Amino acid sequence: MSTTPSAPATEAAVRKPRTVERLVAGQATSDGDGVKLTRVLAQPLQRRLDPFLMLDAFGSDDAADYIGGFPDHPHRGFETVTYMIAGRMRHRDSAGNEGLLQNGGVQWMTAGRGLIHSELPEQEDGRMEGFQLWLNLPAADKMGAPGYRDIASAEIPEFACAGATVRVIAGESHGVAGAVRKAATQPLYLDMHLAPGASFEQAIPAGHNAFVYVYRGELGVDSGTQLTPVPIQRMAVLANGADRDGVRLQAGDEGARALLVAGKPLNEPIAQYGPFVMNTDAEIFQAVEDFRAGKFGQPPGR
Ligand code: FE
Repeated sequence: MSTTPSAPATEAAVRKPRTVERLVAGQATSDGDGVKLTRVLAQPLQRRLDPFLMLDAFGSDDAADYIGGFPDHPHRGFETVTYMIAGRMRHRDSAGNEGLLQNGGVQWMTAGRGLIHSELPEQEDGRMEGFQLWLNLPAADKMGAPGYRDIASAEIPEFACAGATVRVIAGESHGVAGAVRKAATQPLYLDMHLAPGASFEQAIPAGHNAFVYVYRGELGVDSGTQLTPVPIQRMAVLANGADRDGVRLQAGDEGARALLVAGKPLNEPIAQYGPFVMNTDAEIFQAVEDFRAGKFGQPPGR
């Protein structure tokens, strides 16, 4: 009788999981019209976590922390991915797009050569919670046409396995294709809900940069020889290693909810000035000039 263990049918098992390189506590800050948030991925980590430029986490039951929203402001050169856990936010932009982002939905906006948008709460009380991730565009696409996509919660593919429910916002997990696929950076964006003690593993190409952000409970990153705890509201930067083929996670006693984000680095120069992310300073000056000259279109207003 054979004692050879069988591999999962849908995806090769992770044999050499990644370790944690470092834990990052975000910086409390405010942006827009006084919205309180935690900047988890900030500028000093942009090179390390290429192609991701920023991750903000926001969450409050107090309307004063979010009611001002993000009035008219421009972007050029990258994409903003907003994932709303709770609450309602209205988006309008200079390209004429409008959408209502709410409970469990995602807004994937490609700034490309530039647009002006507003992101304003459509609620006066109750909880507002979510994330905004900035994904860089390759140099060749930075001056492409702006784009906008609303992905309602029901359109986000989801699967369950052994105590884990996984929402696949982008990329692919266990044979389930996500709502968004991007060729240049191959982003993986998972929202994982893990029952107490549940394990979940995910294949990640060795060269891709990856991190986990825990927003409920606690989990451990299991390297095979050690379990590194990642507490709530911490980002674990996962170590790259030529022989590492994925990540293995294990929820703590209270279970966990966490984001797993990974992508293929662009390895191009990054020049950022506020909401403009280009490759050179000259391109940044041009962005400021174009914005001042009204080339981003008409502000959508309130
Ligand atoms: Fe914005």
